[in-house]
Amino acid sequence: MVDLTRPITIIGAGMGGLTAALALADRGFSVEIFERAEQMREVGAGLQLSPNALRVLGGLGLMDALLVHGTRAQDVILRRAFTGRRIASIPVVANDGMPYVSIHRADLQTVLLRAVDRSPAITLRLGASLQALTPARSGLDLWFTGSEARHRHHASLVVGADGVHSSIARRLGLAAATSAGTIAWRGCVSRATGDDVTPGIEAWLGPRRHAIAYPISGGRETNLVLIEPMNRTTEADPTGLAHRFRSWDRRLTSMIAAAGDMTGWPLNVVPPTRSWRHLDDRLILIGDAAHAMLPYAAQGAGMAIEDAAVLADTLARAPTQSAALAHYESERRPRIARVRRRVLFHRLIYHLPAPLSFGRNTALAIRSPESLGKDLDWLYDWRHPVPSRDVGDD
Ligand SMILES: Cc1cc2nc3c(=O)[nH]c(=O)nc-3n(C[C@H](O)[C@H](O)[C@H](O)COP(=O)(O)OP(=O)(O)OC[C@H]3O[C@@H](n4cnc5c(N)ncnc54)[C@H](O)[C@@H]3O)c2cc1C
Repeated sequence: MVDLTRPITIIGAGMGGLTAALALADRGFSVEIFERAEQMREVGAGLQLSPNALRVLGGLGLMDALLVHGTRAQDVILRRAFTGRRIASIPVVANDGMPYVSIHRADLQTVLLRAVDRSPAITLRLGASLQALTPARSGLDLWFTGSEARHRHHASLVVGADGVHSSIARRLGLAAATSAGTIAWRGCVSRATGDDVTPGIEAWLGPRRHAIAYPISGGRETNLVLIEPMNRTTEADPTGLAHRFRSWDRRLTSMIAAAGDMTGWPLNVVPPTRSWRHLDDRLILIGDAAHAMLPYAAQGAGMAIEDAAVLADTLARAPTQSAALAHYESERRPRIARVRRRVLFHRLIYHLPAPLSFGRNTALAIRSPESLGKDLDWLYDWRHPVPSRDVGDD
């Protein structure tokens, strides 16, 4: 088993870093998290947490707290862009009853941070921005700037959870994340402003664009995400959104009007070839830093959360750090690749123009919800540890 006496260093206190800290502490490790933000403030509004991610968080004792803030969804309802007519409903509750929840990001972050605060094994250092890392005897030396001024920290294992624009990846000379040529506009509609309340997760599918709406803040607000191609006009012009979506379903356009100015997020992806293990297995990238993908299957945070669980488990069971990281990678690569393929499939079918969209709608409409749900069993029924060979065997 990996040395339990030395703390593990995590860079980044996003969903991946915080969950990794909790999962590692749960396995008996002590952890230090370094986060560049002076204060923990979650930007962006909503998040869908699918059963595979909730199973991990539930295993860390967080389910009750999450269900206080989150709203359970039974289905994702796919709609036609212009009429809003239902194309199909895809059940999203897992076969073991594990729910699918939509939640405000700030609520999820609060739940994770409270658990981190309660854990004597975890130290969270805010205002510590990683500036450099160099190999040192039996580990790495890390240099931080920020509110604590420039200081050095020695680590035997570093978990890089610093997001899609990972500064660790940059310092390692890895190919940067690339633009997907798409932008996501995010906004919130208070439940009081619209008479039509979003009943669950809804997606409107249109040519080159789609929209998603779901409840957050215990159902008091609706989170709205509009995804469209990015060019100079779209990037600079949130006010033109209403115009670009003007011929879409009236219920959606009234939500867009109620949301006011929405915030644009150009979407970036990490190349699938990015290596995750570095510096003689003294550093591992997880979450978006390792494999940021488009949000079309709502799985980015889910994958970061799964990464955290698998990493903690393999470190706790493997004879050495290298064996643990090799096993971790062999387990995560195929899973991430499969989720990426699903994301690309969604991108293709969500944005089809007519007449191809007619074929898509018919193909979806003739299938039962149960059979559509079965397509996602591999995704939502995932659990860890997966019964597999011993961790030292890689
Ligand atoms: C529009 C949109 C909708 C999405 N919807 C969903 C969804 O419904 N469900 C889902 O599962 N996923 C969704 N995602 C994806 C999800 O948001 C990300 O995959 C997830 O937040 C990644 O978590 P992370 O911890 O890897 O990175 P991040 O959350 O980006 O955290 C990285 C952290 O590292 C810190 N950091 C960065 N550099 C340094 C440094 N040098 N030193 C110290 N700290 C540093 C940052 O401040 C940050 O706190 C969506 C994404 C988008 C863009």
